[in-house]
Formats: sequence, C-alpha cells, structure tokens
Amino acid sequence: MTAGGNADPRPAPAGPVVPAVEDYPDGISSIDTGYVRPRLDASHLIVHRGRAAFVDTGTTHSVPRLLAGLDAKGVPREAVDWVFVTHIHLDHAGGAGALLEALPNARAVVHPRGAAHLADPTRLIASTRQVYGDEVYARLYGDIRPIPAERLVVTEDGTRLALAGRSFEFLHTPGHALHHHVILDRDARVLFSGDTFGISYREFDVDGRAFIMPTMPPTQFDPEQMHASIDRILALAPQAVFLTHYSRIVEIERLGRELRAGVRAYVALARHHAAAPERAARLAGDMFEWLSTALDAHGFDPDPAQRHALLDDDIGLNVQGLLTWLARCA
Ligand SMILES: [Zn+2]
Repeated sequence: MTAGGNADPRPAPAGPVVPAVEDYPDGISSIDTGYVRPRLDASHLIVHRGRAAFVDTGTTHSVPRLLAGLDAKGVPREAVDWVFVTHIHLDHAGGAGALLEALPNARAVVHPRGAAHLADPTRLIASTRQVYGDEVYARLYGDIRPIPAERLVVTEDGTRLALAGRSFEFLHTPGHALHHHVILDRDARVLFSGDTFGISYREFDVDGRAFIMPTMPPTQFDPEQMHASIDRILALAPQAVFLTHYSRIVEIERLGRELRAGVRAYVALARHHAAAPERAARLAGDMFEWLSTALDAHGFDPDPAQRHALLDDDIGLNVQGLLTWLARCA
C-alpha cells in the first residue's frame, strides 16, 4: 500500500474480532492503525528495558490508537525515544508529526529522500488532495503535522541507532520507493520491512501459512531495485519479518521466493500488455487471475467476491505503478 490506499473503502470482509494490540517475542507488539479496514496497516511498538520505539505510524487519525497501545503496554510517553518511519507514504508516516507532538523525547528517523517532506509536508498534502479530493483526503489522512528539523534523524545506508543499548541498523532498500529503508534488529534476528518485502494479509493465512504478494505503487517502483532489495533481506536470513501490511511473517526463504516470482510475473504481464488498448484493465484482470491461481495452490477459500475484496485495491495500485514504470523506461 502507498499514499493512496482505498479512495472509497468498502466494508471490511467478515472475520474474527482481532485485538488492536498483538504481542510477539522480543518486546515487539503490533498496533492496528485503523487505516481503511482492520488488519490492513500496522504500527509496531518495540519496548526494551523501559524505553520504546515505534516503527511506522499510520495516519494522523491513527495517533490515538498508538497512544492507547503505549498505555496498554504501561509505557509512559516520555519513554519513547524513536519513531522509525520506513518510508514517507502516508499510511506509514502520515501520523509521525502528530505522534511526535505527544511524545516529548522522541525523534523521527527517516531516509534522506523523505526528510524534507516530513519537515514541510505541503507538497505531500497538495499531491494527495489532488489525487483523492478534499473529502476523502480528510477522512483517510487528516491534518498532516510538520516535524521540526531538530527532531528529525536522517539515515545513511548502514546507520545504527540504539534503544537502551539494543542496536537497530538501517538499510536503504529502493524498489517500492526511493525513500525506503528497512530496519534490522540483529539481536532478535528480525527485520521491519515496511513495503519492501511485500504484503501478506493475515486473512490469507491457511493452517498458519502466509501468502505474500509484491506492492508496486507509482511513481518510483523499479523491478530491478525491488529484486535486489528482496535479495538483500534474504541474505540477512531473519527469523521473522514484520510487514506494515500486515505484521509478523516467518518462513522467510519460501516467502522471498514466492515474492520474487510475483514480481517477475507482474512485470511479464505488464510488458505483454504494454502496447494494448485498455492495457490497465487487461493487466488488472490478468494479475487477478495470476493471484487466484497462486491462492488456489495455497488452499485459500475460492469465493471470488472474498478474493476481490482483499486484492482489488492493491491490484489497482500495482497496475498504476507498473504502467508508470513502463512509461519511464520508454
Ligand atoms: Zn504501505
């Protein structure tokens, strides 16, 4: 998912009621940001020796949920040192400014290509309003608060930052966006991947096994960079990866292989339809068919309505990203 998400959210698919905060090993919890539908968009909270860091924030509307998550974990607001944003798309960083206003000691950590937009979100706001219109913009994103320059920390590839002595390493991983970095927690052997390692909605889990798919939004999607970034993550052999959409996955080697197959397939479909009239519709149709075949093999519920409800927004975004990329290479 990216700045966009769903312009006109449909009702969430039926499912079990899931708690807003879910706990994992090593002091890591996921908090549902409430963006669009349940279990679409996660913030992660890391608590270590009484200090805390967030990874991604959802939107400004998500901030009360994040603060409630802190309360639920018994962490005072003064104990939050870091707000790590994986990239500046609004479902990841839209709430960072408002969150920092509630956290007196925290600083935001951002890729160098994203820093100026967090300090002055005017352009981010204008472009999003232009795409979605004022009403949808207000409903999905709310007011985006600027972050004072002295509260921004800009990473280099390989930057390490500590949370009460626990080290987090930032790796620049283009592919989904040029302003994307991922965060490696070497001690826990886990990685926070934002959108670089794709999307895995928990609704697709079958017998505890995850289903994964790439996310390729406009305007900076690049398949070669995406493959290289996925390979870089696989080479680190993490035990688990925390995705923003949605939270913890294991079996990283298998999922990495499947993710790479998805990238190759989508790119081949895009090239195949590049010159066709109505290429966006054809590409969307073929992408749904490809995913449906993969979901059949995965053993997922064959009901097409359920599949469309879970897939169509991301397919639409991927089509735009692929066509933008093709136009850029032409
Ligand atoms: Zn996203």
